[in-house]
Amino acid sequence: YEFNARNLIDKGIIGSGSYGGVVNKMEHDASGKIMAVKRVRARDVEKKERDVMLRELKMIIDSQGCEDVVRFYGALFEDGDCWICMEIMDCSLDKFYRQVYKQNERIPEKVIGFITASVVRALNYLKETLNLIHRDIKPSNILLNTQGFVKLCDFGISGYLVDSIAKTQDVGCQIYMAPERLSERRYGVRADVWSFGISLVEVCIGRFPYTDWNSVFDQLQAVVHGDPPFLQAGDYSIELVHFVNKCLIKDTSIRPNFADLIKDPFCVHYNIVDPAEMKAWRTEIGDYVLRFLPTSPVA
Ligand code: ADP
Ligand code: MG
Repeated sequence: YEFNARNLIDKGIIGSGSYGGVVNKMEHDASGKIMAVKRVRARDVEKKERDVMLRELKMIIDSQGCEDVVRFYGALFEDGDCWICMEIMDCSLDKFYRQVYKQNERIPEKVIGFITASVVRALNYLKETLNLIHRDIKPSNILLNTQGFVKLCDFGISGYLVDSIAKTQDVGCQIYMAPERLSERRYGVRADVWSFGISLVEVCIGRFPYTDWNSVFDQLQAVVHGDPPFLQAGDYSIELVHFVNKCLIKDTSIRPNFADLIKDPFCVHYNIVDPAEMKAWRTEIGDYVLRFLPTSPVA
């Protein structure tokens, strides 16, 4: 599509994020297409970084070969903001798991397994085909819908923002960043693996795994020098526990990458390849998502 800000009709706020971004439901007037439009402050992003962002976005738009990744429709700059137009989903994993725990339930292992396989496929795809690392993996960037799709969003572009915000030390209260990224500013695919591990522990136990942080300094200390969070055996299978704890190995020479994780027994078990089988899974996962959807997104 060709669009500019005037072609988009605002249908209300979906959510606002940690980096001053806001996501709205919008309708493209000519096509009637409903999408999610994320607006981020781009004034602070340097011209050079902007070009990289646009080039990277274009690359993502051009290659849409993975159904585990949120579809991009386009991006535009308006009044110093960057508008990112993407596929609209029904809920993000952070809001979803909170809703489940609020009702005193826990997410079944089957659902966690399906989410895991979807995210690992998405990240493996980004790496293999686009040579892209995500840089901002966390439950709010894993989206779900009642069709049973689990899709990753906010890759590439937000990474530049995360890094430029990390530069200004304005880190939020929940750090998903890998120890090596905080201590040495070293960033590889394995940093994404760590963030995914933290996200999985969070979803499994129903809260962010680090606690008792009083200051940004404490946070950095805990991640860089403390023991990694881990999942205790008990509520979930030993395969899931092993998978998660593998992601949270501090030593990057031992921590797996996504090509390794896709071969992990837990992931293999939920990595459905047969189309008919996948269809049945989508139905089941979609029904589960529908059951716990927090108050309907935007009418
Ligand atoms: P963050 O990821 O830090 O929460 P964002 O600005 O990326 O902040 O997104 C804000 C919220 O909007 C997210 O928490 C999520 O619930 C929602 N959201 C983002 N993208 C979409 C989308 N494509 N479809 C539906 N909801 C979305
Ligand atoms: Mg996000």
